[in-house]
Amino acid sequence: MSLTCRIHGARDLRLETDPDAAPLAPHEVELRLGAAGICGSDLHYFLHGKVGAFVIREPLIPGHEASGIVMRVGEAVTRVQPGMKVAINPSHPCGHCDYCRGGRDNLCRNMRFLGSASVYPHVQGMFRERFVMGERQLTPVSEDISLGEIACAEPLSIGLHGVNRAGPLLGKTVLITGGGTIGCMSVIAARLAGAAHVIVSDIADRALEMAAAVGADSTVRADQAPPDALADVADVSIEAAGSPAALATCLAATRRGGRIVQVGTLPAEGVHFPANNIMARELDYVGAFRAGIEFDWAVTCLRTRRVDVRPLMSAQLPLDRAAEAFELAADRTRSTKVQLVCES
Ligand SMILES: [Zn+2]
Ligand SMILES: [Zn+2]
Repeated sequence: MSLTCRIHGARDLRLETDPDAAPLAPHEVELRLGAAGICGSDLHYFLHGKVGAFVIREPLIPGHEASGIVMRVGEAVTRVQPGMKVAINPSHPCGHCDYCRGGRDNLCRNMRFLGSASVYPHVQGMFRERFVMGERQLTPVSEDISLGEIACAEPLSIGLHGVNRAGPLLGKTVLITGGGTIGCMSVIAARLAGAAHVIVSDIADRALEMAAAVGADSTVRADQAPPDALADVADVSIEAAGSPAALATCLAATRRGGRIVQVGTLPAEGVHFPANNIMARELDYVGAFRAGIEFDWAVTCLRTRRVDVRPLMSAQLPLDRAAEAFELAADRTRSTKVQLVCES
């Protein structure tokens, strides 16, 4: 028997006991949870029972940012062995649609993404003690890197993908709106890509402190700065707040001929968009959705400590305190990345 965390609807999180897994298929692996980060989308499911258009229609096990320990392997498994620590890629592209074949598998037509209500039946996630995963989702990590850090591979991959969509950053000034986990991962990624100066704006002091801790060169309280404080300051802007005000900041801050990357999820309706800036200033406005090959890059960055995400890891709570962990994660004044862990 093992413990599982399920969301049945808005603010209806239940801890349930599930039977042990059935025999494994040849390429399946049974894992014990190492650490699993609570992401903004998990919080939306918890608080509202939905993320944008993705509504919970059956109990959903959230969780898509996790690491694990291999417990059992199917007879044909070659990538991992029992006892290994692994990074887990939550993205299951089909591998045969036109986008997958074209090298943009994050845009797969048949994507199954763990812990998401985007399809029905929902794809169940990893906020549970034990789960089964295909071996192709797993990357063993032999280095002395904690399970909590390994679980940051997915949010780091989002930062890397956003920067990949930004084009060359060497020597450039980059503005990142939002100093939450994804904004901070974008700071890390922009520095890796050679940005000369990284500015972060947010409306919370703690977020700006975190951004500085992972390498932002300057930080701005967007709600307190004079209106033109950020005008024309950046070659590239990365919108990681998911806020219309932050998007407006990016439109004003990005120099003529520059680029804005939309990483955050904006409200589904009612966004005022000063689109003539795109035309008159010849801005490129591009989207970044989840990640592809960048997941593997993220694992490599973490295992070598090429980047250090530890300042962002604000708390770890055992799985049986999941409700408390969600409340903590929802409080931006106290936390950046809150993780659920499994100790036994
Ligand atoms: Zn996430
Ligand atoms: Zn596909």
